[in-house]
Amino acid sequence: MRKHDLRALIRPDLLELPGYVPIEPTDVLAARAGIAPADVLKLDGNENPFGPSPKALTALAAYRAYHIYPDPDQRALRDALAAYLHVDDERIVCGLGSDDLIDLVLRAVIAPGDAVIDCPPTFGMYLFSAQVAGARVLEAPRQASFALDVPRIEKLASDAKAIFIASPNNPTGNLLPPGQLERLLDTGLLVVVDEAYIEFAGTQHSALPLLSEHENLVVLRTFSKWAGLAGLRAGYGIMSPALAAVLMTIKQPYNLNVAAGVAARAALDDAPLLAERACRIAGTRNALAGLLEAIDWITAYPSDANFILCRLEDVDALEVKERLAKRGIFVRYFDAPALRNHLRISVGLPEHNEPLVRALREIGRELRGE
Ligand code: PMP
Repeated sequence: MRKHDLRALIRPDLLELPGYVPIEPTDVLAARAGIAPADVLKLDGNENPFGPSPKALTALAAYRAYHIYPDPDQRALRDALAAYLHVDDERIVCGLGSDDLIDLVLRAVIAPGDAVIDCPPTFGMYLFSAQVAGARVLEAPRQASFALDVPRIEKLASDAKAIFIASPNNPTGNLLPPGQLERLLDTGLLVVVDEAYIEFAGTQHSALPLLSEHENLVVLRTFSKWAGLAGLRAGYGIMSPALAAVLMTIKQPYNLNVAAGVAARAALDDAPLLAERACRIAGTRNALAGLLEAIDWITAYPSDANFILCRLEDVDALEVKERLAKRGIFVRYFDAPALRNHLRISVGLPEHNEPLVRALREIGRELRGE
């Protein structure tokens, strides 16, 4: 057999790519901590502690035609979303979570040499997907308050094609103020506002009403968070009909699987219940923020999402994360420059606050020798 250099066939930039660091499933976390999966308190993935809506579970169990391919035009869910959002169905594209939409938008706009603006600290998939798409990534780091550096973005805009802004931002929890969004839209960039967590902030903060006036605006939403369907992978984007048509052309034909479509439609049918749950999660978040703030080595940042970013003082955040894990509590640790010694804690059920805070206080005593 002739020897070939396989690596020479692979894009050199991908050989160097560090990759996205995903969270791990409950059974893996449980095995690592030596506990039963039922004892895991999973606060690392911003998942919905209430689970899917009852109507979604019933619809999934009742559906029979899983042996038939999905509708490549996603008609049923796009129609249901059009009615739910009061927008034209031609503006909507569904996908395998909103991650899929991030990837599709990038593939639609990035040609070799094109650039994307990233505003860290933010959701890592923008950088990751931009790199996989072969984009140059221009950084406009957020300020210490985690607000955008709009003047820097305005300077970079002429050299870039798109910018991704999560509102509320992950992991910092802050919303994009409307005045800043207007300035971003005025740059002419494709402005992708990722509203994965908007239901926890209140949809009155959505960028959606600006859509009809701004062709360069894309809004991304997901069923993963407010609707508790993260495992099924259903997300969508709302955008100009012209861009939606391109995304519908270039997407994988069956990128919305049948189960995800069935559950997502049933979730829309159960929207009042899911909205009430999102509201309860926001209430639990506010209560948790108060409890965390009372711990003197934790600074909890204000959050409009279903998680709280915490800066730790006098203790090593990685050590705290590991000691929480030993107690069956899993949170997310960050090692990025702007997030040194930070943890992100997802909001669980109200009854989860007390064991979490008790464990944090114990660990604080262990590490600070009090
Ligand atoms: N956007 C943001 C800001 C997120 O935090 C996440 C999930 N962590 C996503 C998008 C992706 O969500 P999904 O693909 O599950 O819809």
